[in-house]
Amino acid sequence: RRIITTENLEEDQKIENHLRPQTLDDYVGQEKAKEMLKIYISAAKDRGEPLDHVLFYGPPGLGKTTLAGIIANEMGVNLKVTSGPAIEKPGDMAAILNSLQEGDVLFVDEIHRLNRQVEEVLYPAMEDFAIDIMIGKGASARSIRLDLPKFTLVGATTRAGMLTAPLRDRFGVINRLEFYTVEELQTIIQRSATVLGVEIDERGSAELARRSRGTPRLANRLLKRVRDFAQVKFDGVITGDVADFALDLLDVDKYGLDHVDRNLLSTMITRFAGGPVGLETLAASIGEDAGTIEDVYEPYLLKNGFLLRTPRGRVATELAYGHLGISLSK
Ligand code: ATP
Repeated sequence: RRIITTENLEEDQKIENHLRPQTLDDYVGQEKAKEMLKIYISAAKDRGEPLDHVLFYGPPGLGKTTLAGIIANEMGVNLKVTSGPAIEKPGDMAAILNSLQEGDVLFVDEIHRLNRQVEEVLYPAMEDFAIDIMIGKGASARSIRLDLPKFTLVGATTRAGMLTAPLRDRFGVINRLEFYTVEELQTIIQRSATVLGVEIDERGSAELARRSRGTPRLANRLLKRVRDFAQVKFDGVITGDVADFALDLLDVDKYGLDHVDRNLLSTMITRFAGGPVGLETLAASIGEDAGTIEDVYEPYLLKNGFLLRTPRGRVATELAYGHLGISLSK
């Protein structure tokens, strides 16, 4: 299994809750989002109102759930967490909304995966803090309106474009989360190492940060794995050499790419002459789902200049050729 998947694995969960920052000041990076949230939170608190509904979008593992928790914490209210695929029926959504207390934050992960009827319950809930319930059947059916406590919906999705327009329009604050810089990841890694009680030096955290694909979830996971190597094969301290040794064994290369990324790039180069190649064709050639490539693998490769997206398809860059040791002349 891929260690560098940004998916939330079971092994992450115990450590994630442990490592989650609780306040905006403890939250590293995402300066733009943080600055906006600070202002909105303090304004809402001054007015004694709940915060406007917030949508976060961006690749997985960048800290959307963490931010939802921080918002609840800073507002001094409860956080309720659910996800799009978990809510199957409109009645389930109505029950969740009805269980909220005044001001609470409802976090809906993968909000683009809500089905249409469930989503429609959210429209009046977000706009008027009310739900419409149908009673009776056929000709005698009528709907009654039920008031809800005022609440803040925090939605998360990998792509804002996957949301329907009526849902997207009901969010007052829309924030895109960015990949973290190596320096920011280094700070996160050092903080996590302190929480976990493991010693790590400057070069060790830098090496881990460089190979974590701009993603805190991965940085924390790799830290945990490298810690095991440091303990068993070395004297417990994570130095640059220890990190290097362990990450090489884990098949995470200098740029944080693994065999899946390298296979994707080398397939583009060897089978499609470097592109342009369409997403679906590429997905079929490497046996991956097109949506997963687009949401999970590709953003990091694009951001770091390994591939380009053109109207005619994906193109491998010179950097990709160089990294794989393939000459551009073909
Ligand atoms: P998904 O979209 O897959 O649900 P996510 O974006 O919600 O993921 P989180 O679960 O919030 O990601 O974060 C993953 C891990 O990274 C957590 O352990 C969290 O503590 C850590 N983390 C995320 N962002 C930060 C940050 N800015 N500073 C410190 N730690 C962070």
